[in-house]
Parts: sequence; C-alpha cells; structure tokens
Amino acid sequence: MIRPPCARGKKAKKKPPPKKAKPKVAQIFDCPFCGKSQSCSCVMDMDHALGTIRCDGCGVKYDARINRLSDPIDVYAEWIDQCEAVNEPGAKRHATEAAVAGASRHEEQDAEEQEADDDF
Ligand SMILES: [Zn+2]
Repeated sequence: MIRPPCARGKKAKKKPPPKKAKPKVAQIFDCPFCGKSQSCSCVMDMDHALGTIRCDGCGVKYDARINRLSDPIDVYAEWIDQCEAVNEPGAKRHATEAAVAGASRHEEQDAEEQEADDDF
C-alpha cells in the first residue's frame, strides 16, 4: 500500500530494535564480473585459513588466504584488486594510485592505452 505523502501526522513508524552483535555478519557483496548486486557470498573457513567468495549469478569463485583477524570484506577487497590486475595487466602500478586519487580516471586510461601500444 502506498500512503499519500500528506498523511504523515500519524506516527506509524516504530524505531527498529537495536541489532545485537551477531557472530555472523553480512557477507554478501556485489559481483565485479557479472555486475549482479548482493550475489557473492563469502565463507570464512578458519580451519583452513581460506576465505571463499562465490557468485550466485555467474558462478565465479575466488579463494584468498585469511587469518583470524580477516573479515569477508578483506577477501572481497583482495578479489577486487585481483580483478583489476587481470583486467588491466599493464596498469598494475596505477591501480593503487587510481584508488587513492579516484578522480583522475581519464588520465590513467590514456596512459594505459599508450603502454599497450608499446607492448604489442
Ligand atoms: Zn557474478
């Protein structure tokens, strides 16, 4: 049911109860391969020190070494780094710069294209 915006005198909204700290946090991420959101689940296997992300959308899988201090987001971040390295093999050293700078994307791409021409 859609409520008209004028009917807001009534306080229908209750405050949601404060969430307790759960042992399992949300471990679902967006997939960098197929672009599906909330499709990648991360399993942290502490016994084998292995974090595994798998996408429900395209089935892509990524394993990363973890330790007891690792979070799923760490595995995901590492995966994203790997993806960028694979997608832009000539631009590895730019990746961190781009992540920090964030804005100068256009310049980076021009440089990459020139490097690619040199290689081949
Ligand atoms: Zn996917």
